[in-house]
Amino acid sequence: MSRFLLRRYENLVPYVPGEQPQDGAFIKLNTNESPYPPSPLVLERVRDEAASLRLYPDPDARRLRAKLAAHLGVLPENVLVTNGSDEALAFAFLAFFDRDTPVRFPDITYGFYPVYCSLCGVRADIVPLREDFTVCVDDYVAVGRPVVLANPNAPTGLFLPVSDIERIAASNPDHIVLIDEAYIDFGGESAVPLINKYDNLLIVGTFSKSRSLAGARIGYAAACAPLIQDLDTIRNSFNPYNLSRTALAAGEAALDEQAYYTKNCREIARVRDETAEKLRDLGFIVTDSRANFLFIRHPERSGHDLYAELRARGILVRWFNLPRISDYLRVTVGTAEQMDIFVDTIRAII
Ligand code: PMP
Repeated sequence: MSRFLLRRYENLVPYVPGEQPQDGAFIKLNTNESPYPPSPLVLERVRDEAASLRLYPDPDARRLRAKLAAHLGVLPENVLVTNGSDEALAFAFLAFFDRDTPVRFPDITYGFYPVYCSLCGVRADIVPLREDFTVCVDDYVAVGRPVVLANPNAPTGLFLPVSDIERIAASNPDHIVLIDEAYIDFGGESAVPLINKYDNLLIVGTFSKSRSLAGARIGYAAACAPLIQDLDTIRNSFNPYNLSRTALAAGEAALDEQAYYTKNCREIARVRDETAEKLRDLGFIVTDSRANFLFIRHPERSGHDLYAELRARGILVRWFNLPRISDYLRVTVGTAEQMDIFVDTIRAII
């Protein structure tokens, strides 16, 4: 720490992303990327767009927003695109949460929420998930404070039906209900249609997982037009060119080839469920994930040992050194071939 860092950041504990080895030596099942490449049109349009990198991108991302809005079944004024969904989350914390009203979210969820709280000086009102890691919906109904929920939740993969999201949004009309749908395309049902009904509902999504574009950094927020205008004010007060030309081109092309991604998501969900069954047969406890990862525990092996033994055999998975889940592993669903290797390897280990 330098002597110049502001006192208010002295205790800031930053988010630690999963390992990103750059040498390709591992079967990489640790950061929920897609095992499939972007579709051919994405590669072609990114290559073409590179010729225009001399020029700034469209600061309003009009083409991407129009295509995304059409895909989500809303209007362009209902969407904002961001540099990864992390940026959408950051803008939401900056725009809507303050020191006086704690923000409620579960003890086991995306690790960035407490970091944004800390960065923005917002208190976290953390409520434990049930013993089986399900969300107790009543903990979020009529709480008179903002709510943040990942749905499906990470790292558990468990999903709340839209009727529960609606109950939470309807019962907290004077506070933002932020639903992080990073993993919605692998079997969940999106709450985006509800944004026309609830002016406090803010949905965040990403192209990182289901659209094979983690490296392009494309996220979005969907909400009623006034909320989107507020987020846009924050964006334009921070970085109006928040998506590069090549990222915009990639995002637009991905939406033009949605069928390719829908097929990939279906295959990932199939491989996920098949792998879950094989792991249960091996004695693992496996949550009922609707995401592109599995959350697993073996009753006789510590999470860290399994993580380390997999790593030594060339397979990277995510292990969280956190209360309640330190014996669990989060395993991204790869291709059927990768998951066969994963299951064979973990069978050998146990
Ligand atoms: N939300 C959740 C629940 C996530 O797991 C992630 C991935 N780390 C993100 C948001 C952010 O993803 P990205 O910034 O790549 O869109």
